[in-house]
Amino acid sequence: MSAARDRYLTELGIPVWRRRGDGAAPAEPDEPPVPAPAALPPPAVPSLATPSDTAWAELAAKVRACTLCGLHRGRTQTVFGVGKRDAQLFVIGEAPGADEDRQGEPFVGRAGQLLNAMLRSIGLPRSDVYIANILKCRPPNNRDPDPSEAASCTPYLSQQIGLVKPRVVLAVGRIAAQWLLDTDTPIGKLRGRVLSYGAHNTPLVVTYHPAYLLRSPLEKAKAWADLCMVKELLSQST
Ligand code: URA
Repeated sequence: MSAARDRYLTELGIPVWRRRGDGAAPAEPDEPPVPAPAALPPPAVPSLATPSDTAWAELAAKVRACTLCGLHRGRTQTVFGVGKRDAQLFVIGEAPGADEDRQGEPFVGRAGQLLNAMLRSIGLPRSDVYIANILKCRPPNNRDPDPSEAASCTPYLSQQIGLVKPRVVLAVGRIAAQWLLDTDTPIGKLRGRVLSYGAHNTPLVVTYHPAYLLRSPLEKAKAWADLCMVKELLSQST
């Protein structure tokens, strides 16, 4: 057997047998070279993505490319949402501000620091909840969302809530609360009780926006009471 064929068989993992006493056969000068075996395709790796991973990825891609309202023209980037995809608590704010627009994550500025502290006070680190806004793009000069902008953006939020399936929704601030509940009742009358959201009647609690609490620290006591209500709802068995 030629040395070239030996190499070929060895490449393929086929043991080369020789008659006892055979020496390695000298390469025959006139023998044509045996071509190297074609590389085998890599074994198929089963995908580890779940249907829910795919739904999140598709939704995130849609939001990233969204041009449904004029806000896309002024954004640095969209602010999709952040947190645990199976969180028990879904926190909803109004819209990204300058810090959020820059970093692509909701509630990362001073108001965000206070929101984190509020959540920690009821034993929930930020990483344990899901946080998103009514709007995914920053309105210019932090103006209130226009109803047509909120209407264009809400389907994204509804899909996020549908994927997370939270046990409780916390609306922070008047804008989020009034939009989610489709009411113009003042926030002072919406907070302090358990309301319900959506087709699944998910318990919804309203509290003051942390940016408002930074300006009006005396209202923090009421926000604390609202958060205790959230904690109580979460501790109830399903
Ligand atoms: N205010 C909000 O309502 N949302 C943010 O993400 C930041 C500030």
